[in-house]
Amino acid sequence: MKQYDYLVVGAGLFGATFAHLAKKDGKKVLVIDKREHIAGNIYTENIKGIQVHQYGAHIFHTDNSNVWNFVNQFAEFNRYTNSPVARIGNEIYNLPFNMNTFAKIWDDVYSPEDAWRHISEERKEMDGKVPSNLEEQAISLIGRTIYEKLIKGYTEKQWNRDCKDLPAFIIKRLPVRFVYDNNYFNDKYQGIPVGGYTNMVAQMLSGIDVQLNTNFFKNVDYYKEIAEKIVYTGPIDEYFHYSLGVLEWRSLKFETKILAERNYQGNAVVNYTGHEVDYTRVIEHKHFEFDTESPNTVVTFEYPTDYQEGMEKYYTINDEKNNQLALQYRELASKESNVIFGGRLAEYKYYDMDDVIESAFSKYQEEVNEKKNRLD
Ligand code: FAD
Ligand code: UDP
Repeated sequence: MKQYDYLVVGAGLFGATFAHLAKKDGKKVLVIDKREHIAGNIYTENIKGIQVHQYGAHIFHTDNSNVWNFVNQFAEFNRYTNSPVARIGNEIYNLPFNMNTFAKIWDDVYSPEDAWRHISEERKEMDGKVPSNLEEQAISLIGRTIYEKLIKGYTEKQWNRDCKDLPAFIIKRLPVRFVYDNNYFNDKYQGIPVGGYTNMVAQMLSGIDVQLNTNFFKNVDYYKEIAEKIVYTGPIDEYFHYSLGVLEWRSLKFETKILAERNYQGNAVVNYTGHEVDYTRVIEHKHFEFDTESPNTVVTFEYPTDYQEGMEKYYTINDEKNNQLALQYRELASKESNVIFGGRLAEYKYYDMDDVIESAFSKYQEEVNEKKNRLD
């Protein structure tokens, strides 16, 4: 009989969800993380009374009522609705692309029909052609004017590549609406946990052993010895010592400033969609909590950058080469006995938070079923 049923590597959302479910079923769980804090990339820190999202702005949104009910056990969610604005030069537009955007772009647009007249005129340059890259996809979706003002610069900064060399699917997830509605997401449920994500994850991990500043790879044999099974949420290529090659990522640099003013930009998220500045977004954290009273504000400038060793891995590069390599690693992982691979790093997937929780639910259920089959 080993000391723990599960050793969970990573105290992020995947690890915390899995650990919570196992603990609830009476299992002994140890969670380790190499960082000095829990919550992985959804970690928030209280600075001057403001919950600062240290690894990028995180807005919880989902259509899945099981996921929504699950997270609501650990935190109360506020009514935050993401409605970023885009700035190019000295012009401001509403996002996502909706009637407010169209009415500002074209001064004779009042109705959906007026907007559609402009967009369909501009789409003619595609001449019915199937889009083969991001530029063509954007023009066929929304026309050249909006592409050049609100998509081209942002996307080229984000990916450091010309839009003609990027796959079309990247912008398919951006909503286009012929109603006056600035809600960035279509999901039924949305909000930010009151008191921050770190508190929410602490609640999930309540009663579970957690060791921070602890790297799994410093002591693999020991961890395999003390636990029946490993739940691994770190990078999949690292687990296999990069034996098949290195999976590529895009990273971000965050520049955070505390300012002695109440309200810097009047919105939580402002996207900078032109090449005149190198950052893509400025986040003003207090607006996630409707705070306009406190005397200071905390703002973060977000600069996309190539990944280099020692940086955080943020965005998967889903080109043919990396997708193939990820498949090969998944094949290796499926043969690894007593290890469950889960989360954005171990699955090499761009996952929203609700997807990560769903993935942890289903991996835990598979585990329960497998155990049951063994006993039957
Ligand atoms: P992580 O949070 O990365 O957790 C993995 C943990 O494993 C880390 O804490 C790491 O330190 C630890 N670890 C790794 N290797 C080891 C090791 N060898 N030993 C010990 N510990 C180890 N989703 C949304 O739904 N809404 C949003 O608005 C949103 N915004 C985002 C903004 C940005 C900039 C980015 C990049 C992502 C955003 N996401 C958003 C996605 C969200 O961040 C992820 O879905 C979620 O954080 C993934 O959780 P995870 O547990 O898989 O990974
Ligand atoms: N995008 C854009 N302009 C914007 C915001 C997003 O062109 O103002 C494009 C860009 O290509 C980006 C993609 O839409 O990579 C997805 O944006 P989303 O906001 O979903 O990105 P994430 O939250 O993942 O950073």
